[in-house]
Amino acid sequence: MAIVSRKGLGPAKRFGTRYGSPLKMRLALVEIEQKQKHECPYCGRPKVRRVMAGVWQCQKCQTKFTGRAYTPMSKLAQTQEVQAVTSEPEEQKEQEEEVVAE
Ligand SMILES: [Zn+2]
Repeated sequence: MAIVSRKGLGPAKRFGTRYGSPLKMRLALVEIEQKQKHECPYCGRPKVRRVMAGVWQCQKCQTKFTGRAYTPMSKLAQTQEVQAVTSEPEEQKEQEEEVVAE
């Protein structure tokens, strides 16, 4: 909220004096996130754009995939992905140990 109020109402300025500032602030936060350059989960380039609610397309590799309505991936899913990547070496070590034991 604070970010939006400092910068004005951002994309919600188009509503003028209508609908009230708290609602416009919430909408601005969603629209700013929606219109950011999102990283493609397939080619890694920041070229993902929203086609419609829940459908996202990479402008570089043309991959079309589903995600959330206003963001391609939830922040929770992103952190889980990072954790999965960082925990991979431990799993590999465990598998190697099992092979040696056999
Ligand atoms: Zn891509």
